[in-house]
Amino acid sequence: MAVYHQRDVLQNLLSQQKERGRTIGLVPTMGALHEGHLSLVAQSARENDITVVSIFVNPTQFDNKDDLQKYPRSLEEDTRKLYAENPNVLIFAPEVEDVYSDTVRSDHFDFDGLEFQMEGKFRKGHFDGVGTIVKRLFEIVKPDNAYFGEKDYQQLLIVKTMVEKHHIPVQIHGCPIKREENGLAMSSRNKRLPEQLRREAGFIFEVLQQARENFKIQTPEAVKEVIVQRFEEHPEFKLEYVEIADTNTLEPALHKEKDKKYRAFIAVYADEVRLIDNIALN
Ligand code: AMP
Repeated sequence: MAVYHQRDVLQNLLSQQKERGRTIGLVPTMGALHEGHLSLVAQSARENDITVVSIFVNPTQFDNKDDLQKYPRSLEEDTRKLYAENPNVLIFAPEVEDVYSDTVRSDHFDFDGLEFQMEGKFRKGHFDGVGTIVKRLFEIVKPDNAYFGEKDYQQLLIVKTMVEKHHIPVQIHGCPIKREENGLAMSSRNKRLPEQLRREAGFIFEVLQQARENFKIQTPEAVKEVIVQRFEEHPEFKLEYVEIADTNTLEPALHKEKDKKYRAFIAVYADEVRLIDNIALN
Protein backbone atom coordinates (compact mmCIF):
# COMPACT_ATOMS: atom_id res chain seq x y z
CA MET A 1 0.00 0.00 0.00
CA ALA A 2 1.33 3.43 -0.90
CA VAL A 3 2.24 5.56 2.13
CA TYR A 4 3.69 8.99 1.31
CA HIS A 5 5.56 10.93 3.96
CA GLN A 6 6.92 13.63 1.66
CA ARG A 7 4.60 16.11 0.09
CA ASP A 8 6.71 16.56 -3.09
CA VAL A 9 6.57 12.88 -3.95
CA LEU A 10 2.80 12.77 -3.47
CA GLN A 11 2.29 16.03 -5.37
CA ASN A 12 4.27 14.73 -8.38
CA LEU A 13 2.17 11.63 -8.59
CA LEU A 14 -1.12 13.50 -8.16
CA SER A 15 -0.31 16.16 -10.74
CA GLN A 16 0.42 13.45 -13.33
CA GLN A 17 -2.90 11.82 -12.53
CA LYS A 18 -4.71 15.15 -12.76
CA GLU A 19 -3.25 15.73 -16.21
CA ARG A 20 -4.82 12.44 -17.26
CA GLY A 21 -8.17 13.75 -16.09
CA ARG A 22 -8.40 11.62 -12.95
CA THR A 23 -10.47 13.00 -10.08
CA ILE A 24 -9.08 13.16 -6.55
CA GLY A 25 -10.96 12.73 -3.28
CA LEU A 26 -9.36 13.71 0.03
CA VAL A 27 -10.27 12.41 3.49
CA PRO A 28 -8.37 14.38 6.16
CA THR A 29 -7.93 12.47 9.44
CA MET A 30 -5.78 12.39 12.54
CA GLY A 31 -5.47 8.61 12.34
CA ALA A 32 -6.44 5.95 14.90
CA LEU A 33 -8.93 5.02 12.24
CA HIS A 34 -12.33 3.51 12.93
CA GLU A 35 -15.42 2.73 10.89
CA GLY A 36 -16.47 6.38 10.91
CA HIS A 37 -13.32 7.30 9.01
CA LEU A 38 -13.66 4.26 6.76
CA SER A 39 -17.18 5.30 5.74
CA LEU A 40 -15.73 8.59 4.46
CA VAL A 41 -13.03 6.69 2.60
CA ALA A 42 -15.63 4.38 1.02
CA GLN A 43 -17.69 7.36 -0.16
CA SER A 44 -14.63 9.05 -1.62
CA ALA A 45 -13.59 5.85 -3.40
CA ARG A 46 -17.07 5.57 -4.95
CA GLU A 47 -17.03 9.15 -6.18
CA ASN A 48 -13.39 9.66 -7.28
CA ASP A 49 -10.71 7.90 -9.32
CA ILE A 50 -8.11 8.42 -6.59
CA THR A 51 -8.61 8.70 -2.83
CA VAL A 52 -6.00 10.26 -0.57
CA VAL A 53 -6.33 9.76 3.19
CA SER A 54 -4.20 12.14 5.19
CA ILE A 55 -3.09 11.01 8.63
CA PHE A 56 -1.70 13.87 10.63
CA VAL A 57 -2.19 14.77 14.29
CA ASN A 58 -2.30 18.51 13.83
CA PRO A 59 -0.67 20.21 16.84
CA THR A 60 -2.20 23.66 16.25
CA GLN A 61 -5.77 22.50 16.74
CA PHE A 62 -5.12 21.24 20.28
CA ASP A 63 -5.55 23.78 23.06
CA ASN A 64 -4.54 21.16 25.61
CA LYS A 65 -0.99 19.74 25.52
CA ASP A 66 -2.00 16.64 27.47
CA ASP A 67 -4.75 15.84 24.94
CA LEU A 68 -2.25 16.24 22.08
CA GLN A 69 0.26 13.97 23.80
CA LYS A 70 -2.31 11.29 24.62
CA TYR A 71 -3.94 11.37 21.19
CA PRO A 72 -3.68 7.77 19.89
CA ARG A 73 -1.20 7.21 17.04
CA SER A 74 -1.19 3.93 15.13
CA LEU A 75 0.03 4.39 11.55
CA GLU A 76 0.75 0.69 10.96
CA GLU A 77 -2.64 -0.44 12.12
CA ASP A 78 -4.28 2.40 10.19
CA THR A 79 -2.46 1.30 7.04
CA ARG A 80 -3.74 -2.27 7.51
CA LYS A 81 -7.30 -1.06 8.00
CA LEU A 82 -7.17 1.12 4.92
CA TYR A 83 -5.68 -1.67 2.86
CA ALA A 84 -8.52 -3.97 3.90
CA GLU A 85 -11.05 -1.26 3.02
CA ASN A 86 -9.50 -0.39 -0.31
CA PRO A 87 -5.96 -1.31 -1.44
CA ASN A 88 -5.86 1.57 -3.93
CA VAL A 89 -6.09 4.34 -1.36
CA LEU A 90 -3.04 6.61 -1.03
CA ILE A 91 -1.96 7.57 2.48
CA PHE A 92 -0.34 10.91 3.14
CA ALA A 93 1.36 10.91 6.54
CA PRO A 94 3.60 13.98 6.71
CA GLU A 95 5.83 15.09 9.57
CA VAL A 96 5.02 18.28 11.47
CA GLU A 97 7.99 20.07 9.82
CA ASP A 98 6.75 19.13 6.38
CA VAL A 99 3.44 20.86 6.99
CA TYR A 100 4.59 23.79 9.12
CA SER A 101 8.22 24.56 8.09
CA ASP A 102 9.88 26.42 11.00
CA THR A 103 6.97 27.83 12.97
CA VAL A 104 4.22 25.58 14.21
CA ARG A 105 1.61 28.29 14.27
CA SER A 106 -1.93 28.77 12.94
CA ASP A 107 -3.06 31.35 10.44
CA HIS A 108 -6.02 33.43 11.56
CA PHE A 109 -9.40 32.98 9.89
CA ASP A 110 -12.75 34.73 9.81
CA PHE A 111 -15.48 32.10 9.59
CA ASP A 112 -18.42 34.54 9.73
CA GLY A 113 -18.96 33.98 13.44
CA LEU A 114 -19.22 30.17 13.29
CA GLU A 115 -15.90 30.05 15.14
CA PHE A 116 -17.27 31.81 18.22
CA GLN A 117 -19.89 29.17 19.03
CA MET A 118 -19.55 25.95 21.05
CA GLU A 119 -16.20 24.28 20.25
CA GLY A 120 -14.79 27.72 19.48
CA LYS A 121 -15.72 28.93 22.97
CA PHE A 122 -14.31 25.94 24.78
CA ARG A 123 -11.21 25.20 22.67
CA LYS A 124 -9.35 28.46 22.13
CA GLY A 125 -7.67 28.68 18.73
CA HIS A 126 -9.03 25.29 17.68
CA PHE A 127 -10.67 26.43 14.44
CA ASP A 128 -7.70 28.54 13.37
CA GLY A 129 -5.73 25.29 13.68
CA VAL A 130 -8.34 23.38 11.69
CA GLY A 131 -8.49 26.07 8.99
CA THR A 132 -4.70 26.13 8.72
CA ILE A 133 -4.23 22.39 8.28
CA VAL A 134 -7.21 21.85 5.99
CA LYS A 135 -6.18 24.76 3.74
CA ARG A 136 -2.61 23.39 3.55
CA LEU A 137 -3.84 19.90 2.75
CA PHE A 138 -6.05 21.34 0.00
CA GLU A 139 -3.02 23.20 -1.40
CA ILE A 140 -0.90 20.05 -1.38
CA VAL A 141 -3.45 17.50 -2.64
CA LYS A 142 -5.64 19.82 -4.77
CA PRO A 143 -8.63 17.49 -4.41
CA ASP A 144 -11.80 17.77 -6.46
CA ASN A 145 -13.82 16.49 -3.49
CA ALA A 146 -13.17 16.36 0.24
CA TYR A 147 -15.09 14.39 2.87
CA PHE A 148 -15.84 15.44 6.44
CA GLY A 149 -17.99 13.79 9.12
CA GLU A 150 -21.09 15.35 10.63
CA LYS A 151 -19.66 14.08 13.92
CA ASP A 152 -17.67 17.36 13.85
CA TYR A 153 -20.57 19.33 12.46
CA GLN A 154 -19.17 22.76 13.35
CA GLN A 155 -15.90 21.85 11.65
CA LEU A 156 -17.82 20.78 8.53
CA LEU A 157 -19.55 24.18 8.32
CA ILE A 158 -16.29 25.99 8.98
CA VAL A 159 -14.51 24.14 6.17
CA LYS A 160 -17.40 24.93 3.79
CA THR A 161 -17.14 28.61 4.76
CA MET A 162 -13.37 28.66 4.31
CA VAL A 163 -13.63 27.13 0.85
CA GLU A 164 -16.20 29.72 -0.23
CA LYS A 165 -14.30 32.69 1.21
CA HIS A 166 -10.94 31.64 -0.20
CA HIS A 167 -12.39 30.47 -3.53
CA ILE A 168 -10.80 27.04 -3.18
CA PRO A 169 -12.01 24.80 -6.03
CA VAL A 170 -13.09 21.78 -4.00
CA GLN A 171 -16.50 20.29 -3.29
CA ILE A 172 -17.08 19.59 0.42
CA HIS A 173 -19.20 16.58 1.35
CA GLY A 174 -20.72 15.98 4.81
CA CYS A 175 -21.06 12.31 5.84
CA PRO A 176 -23.38 10.84 8.52
CA ILE A 177 -22.16 9.90 12.01
CA LYS A 178 -21.17 6.26 12.54
CA ARG A 179 -21.97 4.89 15.97
CA GLU A 180 -20.91 1.97 18.12
CA GLU A 181 -23.57 -0.62 18.92
CA ASN A 182 -24.68 1.22 22.04
CA GLY A 183 -25.08 4.50 20.11
CA LEU A 184 -21.81 6.14 21.20
CA ALA A 185 -20.46 8.18 18.28
CA MET A 186 -17.27 6.52 17.03
CA SER A 187 -14.20 8.53 17.90
CA SER A 188 -10.46 7.87 18.11
CA ARG A 189 -10.71 9.07 21.71
CA ASN A 190 -13.11 6.22 22.63
CA LYS A 191 -10.03 3.98 22.88
CA ARG A 192 -9.00 5.94 25.95
CA LEU A 193 -12.25 5.17 27.80
CA PRO A 194 -12.23 2.44 30.44
CA GLU A 195 -14.33 -0.48 29.18
CA GLN A 196 -17.19 -0.03 31.64
CA LEU A 197 -17.51 3.67 30.88
CA ARG A 198 -17.39 3.03 27.14
CA ARG A 199 -20.34 0.66 27.52
CA GLU A 200 -22.26 3.20 29.60
CA ALA A 201 -21.47 6.02 27.18
CA GLY A 202 -24.42 4.97 25.02
CA PHE A 203 -26.20 7.21 27.50
CA ILE A 204 -25.00 10.27 25.57
CA PHE A 205 -26.85 9.28 22.40
CA GLU A 206 -29.87 8.18 24.43
CA VAL A 207 -30.12 11.72 25.83
CA LEU A 208 -29.77 13.22 22.34
CA GLN A 209 -32.55 11.00 21.03
CA GLN A 210 -34.76 12.05 23.92
CA ALA A 211 -33.96 15.67 23.05
CA ARG A 212 -35.15 15.07 19.49
CA GLU A 213 -38.46 13.72 20.83
CA ASN A 214 -38.86 16.56 23.31
CA PHE A 215 -38.10 19.15 20.65
CA LYS A 216 -41.38 18.26 18.92
CA ILE A 217 -43.35 19.73 21.83
CA GLN A 218 -40.92 21.74 23.96
CA THR A 219 -39.05 25.03 23.63
CA PRO A 220 -35.29 24.86 22.98
CA GLU A 221 -34.68 26.08 26.54
CA ALA A 222 -36.85 23.32 28.03
CA VAL A 223 -35.11 20.68 25.89
CA LYS A 224 -31.74 21.89 27.14
CA GLU A 225 -32.92 21.80 30.76
CA VAL A 226 -33.91 18.14 30.46
CA ILE A 227 -30.48 17.33 29.02
CA VAL A 228 -28.74 19.15 31.88
CA GLN A 229 -30.91 17.29 34.43
CA ARG A 230 -30.18 13.90 32.91
CA PHE A 231 -26.45 14.54 33.07
CA GLU A 232 -26.76 15.65 36.68
CA GLU A 233 -28.21 12.21 37.39
CA HIS A 234 -25.13 10.60 35.74
CA PRO A 235 -22.12 12.33 37.29
CA GLU A 236 -19.66 9.97 35.56
CA PHE A 237 -20.41 12.07 32.46
CA LYS A 238 -19.69 15.75 32.96
CA LEU A 239 -21.55 17.97 30.55
CA GLU A 240 -19.32 20.78 29.28
CA TYR A 241 -21.95 22.41 27.10
CA VAL A 242 -25.27 21.70 25.49
CA GLU A 243 -26.61 23.90 22.72
CA ILE A 244 -29.54 23.89 20.38
CA ALA A 245 -28.56 25.83 17.32
CA ASP A 246 -29.57 26.76 13.79
CA THR A 247 -27.93 24.21 11.47
CA ASN A 248 -26.62 26.89 9.11
CA THR A 249 -25.47 29.72 11.36
CA LEU A 250 -24.96 27.75 14.61
CA GLU A 251 -26.61 30.68 16.44
CA PRO A 252 -28.28 29.36 19.62
CA ALA A 253 -32.02 28.87 19.12
CA LEU A 254 -34.02 31.14 21.43
CA HIS A 255 -37.31 29.88 20.01
CA LYS A 256 -38.35 27.63 17.15
CA GLU A 257 -38.89 29.32 13.81
CA LYS A 258 -40.85 27.75 11.01
CA ASP A 259 -38.74 26.51 8.06
CA LYS A 260 -35.53 26.54 10.11
CA LYS A 261 -33.52 23.44 10.89
CA TYR A 262 -31.97 22.84 14.28
CA ARG A 263 -29.45 20.48 15.83
CA ALA A 264 -28.54 19.69 19.42
CA PHE A 265 -24.83 19.70 20.23
CA ILE A 266 -23.06 18.45 23.34
CA ALA A 267 -19.57 18.09 24.72
CA VAL A 268 -19.03 15.71 27.61
CA TYR A 269 -16.10 14.63 29.74
CA ALA A 270 -15.96 10.94 30.63
CA ASP A 271 -12.99 10.14 32.83
CA GLU A 272 -10.99 13.08 31.39
CA VAL A 273 -11.78 12.03 27.83
CA ARG A 274 -13.61 14.73 25.93
CA LEU A 275 -16.43 13.49 23.70
CA ILE A 276 -18.65 15.47 21.33
CA ASP A 277 -21.87 14.49 19.60
CA ASN A 278 -24.83 16.07 17.86
CA ILE A 279 -28.20 15.19 16.37
CA ALA A 280 -30.62 16.72 13.88
CA LEU A 281 -33.79 17.77 15.73
CA ASN A 282 -36.19 18.44 12.86
P1 AMP B 1 -10.51 12.95 13.10
O1 AMP B 1 -9.52 11.89 12.78
O2 AMP B 1 -11.19 12.77 14.41
O3 AMP B 1 -9.98 14.34 12.87
O4 AMP B 1 -11.67 12.77 12.03
C1 AMP B 1 -11.41 12.77 10.66
C2 AMP B 1 -12.71 12.88 9.91
O5 AMP B 1 -13.54 11.76 10.23
C3 AMP B 1 -13.52 14.14 10.31
O6 AMP B 1 -14.13 14.68 9.15
C4 AMP B 1 -14.53 13.59 11.28
O7 AMP B 1 -15.72 14.36 11.35
C5 AMP B 1 -14.80 12.23 10.68
N1 AMP B 1 -15.34 11.34 11.71
C6 AMP B 1 -14.84 11.13 12.93
N2 AMP B 1 -15.64 10.30 13.62
C7 AMP B 1 -16.69 10.00 12.82
C8 AMP B 1 -17.88 9.21 12.96
N3 AMP B 1 -18.14 8.58 14.08
N4 AMP B 1 -18.72 9.14 11.92
C9 AMP B 1 -18.46 9.81 10.76
N5 AMP B 1 -17.38 10.57 10.57
C10 AMP B 1 -16.50 10.68 11.58
